Amino acid sequence: MTEQTNRPIGQQRHRDKVNRARDDAGSAVYRSDELCWKCRGPLVELRPPLDSWRYYCPACTHLTLTEIEAASSLERLQPGQLGAVVSVTRRLRIEPLR
Ligand SMILES: [Zn+2]
Repeated sequence: MTEQTNRPIGQQRHRDKVNRARDDAGSAVYRSDELCWKCRGPLVELRPPLDSWRYYCPACTHLTLTEIEAASSLERLQPGQLGAVVSVTRRLRIEPLR
């Protein structure tokens, strides 16, 4: 999508070598092509999802929806609905797998 998707995460160098980091909950962390709706930085994908959140922004330290998912959920607000939860702050420790 953009050049930002090729930025290394931790010590990762190649897109194919994705399974090299873990969060505190034990999910594997993978590079993704998705961008953060808030900072436009690359999101990492958590497998399995953590508390049903599939993406994490290391820069913003939040579990989050993708930019498209966030925009979509806000576009589909029901009458009387004030907003939608698009991210939850959570600090995860991401480190290379041994
Ligand atoms: Zn962000």
